[in-house]
Amino acid sequence: MSDRLDHDVIIAGAGVVGAAIAWHLARAGVRVAIIDATGPAAAASGASDGAVSVASKKPGVMARLASASLIYTHDLAAQGPLQAAFAARPAHIFGSGAAELAAMDTLAAKLNHLSGRVRVVADGGPDLLSGLGTGVDRLMTLEGEGHMPGHKAVRAYLAAPGITCIWPAPLLGYEVADGFVTVRLADRTLRAGQLVLALGVSSPDLIPGLPIVPRAGQLIVTDRGPVGALSGSLTAAAYLVAKTQDGAALPLLPVVIDPLTSGQYLIGSTREDHGDPTRVDFATLRRLLTRAATVWPALRDRRVIRTFAGVRAAVSDSLPIVGPLPGADRVTIVTGFEGDGICLSALIGREVARMLCGLSPDAALAADLAALSPVRFSKNRIEGAA
Ligand SMILES: Cc1cc2nc3c(=O)[nH]c(=O)nc-3n(C[C@H](O)[C@H](O)[C@H](O)COP(=O)(O)OP(=O)(O)OC[C@H]3O[C@@H](n4cnc5c(N)ncnc54)[C@H](O)[C@@H]3O)c2cc1C
Repeated sequence: MSDRLDHDVIIAGAGVVGAAIAWHLARAGVRVAIIDATGPAAAASGASDGAVSVASKKPGVMARLASASLIYTHDLAAQGPLQAAFAARPAHIFGSGAAELAAMDTLAAKLNHLSGRVRVVADGGPDLLSGLGTGVDRLMTLEGEGHMPGHKAVRAYLAAPGITCIWPAPLLGYEVADGFVTVRLADRTLRAGQLVLALGVSSPDLIPGLPIVPRAGQLIVTDRGPVGALSGSLTAAAYLVAKTQDGAALPLLPVVIDPLTSGQYLIGSTREDHGDPTRVDFATLRRLLTRAATVWPALRDRRVIRTFAGVRAAVSDSLPIVGPLPGADRVTIVTGFEGDGICLSALIGREVARMLCGLSPDAALAADLAALSPVRFSKNRIEGAA
């Protein structure tokens, strides 16, 4: 590193994606700093469900990347930083009525075509899981997926030695000149060889014209108690429809019930096209709870102790945006993970770190990673902020 630089790489945004990139860079011996306007996991990463799920991904690029990320997340949990953050667990998908049953057929076909860790271990009637209530015609159990609360993953990544953490420190702007990037904070400027913008839904503040749409999601948390026979998540097939078919009419309410290691249930999540994490939609939450308690009656004995919301950064073409920012040498943008950022973070962290170190991407994933490049949007619409 040149003496003129404070850091080799500065990452703006300490969500799960920025933190994963920081960990991989530090491990490669790169002098890395991560800054955040508020603190670690302050936005979507701290307000998400945390399913590391291949089942819920669109077939094609997203399903292949999710499958590769899931395999790598298992590796990082077995012998890396995610040991205390990631837990493997079964995923139960349930359906009722023609549209949900068809979505389950599509899921089974998708998993058949995808080599990876996730496989169907049971597929049949509601008697496959004791404790189920009514409103379930078919139940499919998958093995290989897992759960990782975003805040735990961020904490785990940033605990590694060699990462300089700076907050609260909003990034106000940057300039690229003379072979380095000058990063402007409120009380100082920093010089780095490279800047990574991992700002989630706030990315357009620094990159005007970026096609990010805020999509809020509300979650419900119950009190603690025994979670009985529910060893893994219980997901309505309507949720797969909501995630994989933009604008599709939903047959029934998409709901996910996740039993947490604390003995609480996490029930979610809504998908509302606005960016206000403080807006509570009681009518939708009531409908979520009603469907959840119908299929899992043990919930009727629980109290709701909290609801909270986060905002996902959705992209107009439903793919994340990852790669060098056109027209701004030394600046990389990594955003737009909508409801998939916890799942994709390990792989994206590894691959962005490789990119910044001048290494080629994993050959098997090169085409899929190239599909995420920001060059797919008009250069006239995306510009680096000065
Ligand atoms: C309700 C809900 C449920 C979800 N469920 C799942 C799930 O089950 N599985 C899954 O994989 N994903 C899920 N997600 C999506 C996942 O949470 C996100 O995709 C992921 O957290 C995005 O991470 P990120 O690092 O890109 O962005 P964020 O976590 O949003 O981080 C961006 C960071 O940038 C900081 N920042 C913003 N502006 C500035 C600035 N000017 N200067 C410095 N810092 C700044 C913010 O403070 C923030 O910490 C869910 C999301 C929501 C809201």
